[in-house]
Amino acid sequence: MKVLKIIGLSLLGIILVLAIAIALFIYKMGSGFDSFETDPPDLPSDLGSKAILVFSKTNGFRHGGAIEASYPVYRQLARENDWSIFETDNGAVFSEEILKKFKVVVWNNTTGRVLIEEQRQALRDYLEGGGGFVGVHGAGDHSHHWDWYEDEVINARFSHHNISLELETASLSLERDTSNLAVSEGLPTAMSHQDEWYVFYDNPRENGSTVLYTVDENTFDVSGNLGFLVTDKDFGMGEDHPIVWYHELKAGRVFYSALGHHGAAFDNRDHQQILENGITWAGNF
Ligand SMILES: [Zn+2]
Repeated sequence: MKVLKIIGLSLLGIILVLAIAIALFIYKMGSGFDSFETDPPDLPSDLGSKAILVFSKTNGFRHGGAIEASYPVYRQLARENDWSIFETDNGAVFSEEILKKFKVVVWNNTTGRVLIEEQRQALRDYLEGGGGFVGVHGAGDHSHHWDWYEDEVINARFSHHNISLELETASLSLERDTSNLAVSEGLPTAMSHQDEWYVFYDNPRENGSTVLYTVDENTFDVSGNLGFLVTDKDFGMGEDHPIVWYHELKAGRVFYSALGHHGAAFDNRDHQQILENGITWAGNF
């Protein structure tokens, strides 16, 4: 009987290890194995003076629908504003030589560890030297494994979002202080928007950012708890829950919007206006 028990327990152990390995494999199949590039793509010879680099690489969760839906929005904004757009998932564009062709880099739902060390340094030099950056939704989550990026670029540490509801329609308010500034031109003082709502551990306002929009926590469920799997995420940010903000990073300019989880989020005209204003501000256009 004792032998049977040992065999049984061993089998159980093997099954458990296999199950974890399969789960990990399925997760990685969905989010992609980490990949890095060292050969940059060919760039158009004349990008003009208002060139925007839209970078949508994901080595973490891929917001596929949102990324696809965002391209026509950026292209339309480019036509209206006389920008040129270059879209890529290739991390090798992060070199001094290539970045100097662009006024703004958009991290368009970029997730995971997407750059090798020298590419990271190129982005850092670019921003600190006066480049513009716009982060969209997933660009602000905790998957990037890069302290400088999370603290200095995004300016707030991501905690969670609601998992079971995923999409909720919430109310946003434009900051009164910004209402006379160019960065809020064309934006409504109150807007309703359906999205996945990010909760951050710290408030970017206290880290030196200027907040453009806050979201009203009374209009959505802040909890990130999930049954017995996650039990410590039942909190929000309180009265002051920034959702769109911007700040200067040495000589550079960073604009971040936590909006943009799903494709339909990019149909919202107000959201498109936020992206337009963000790129315009970051590029100092
Ligand atoms: Zn999302």
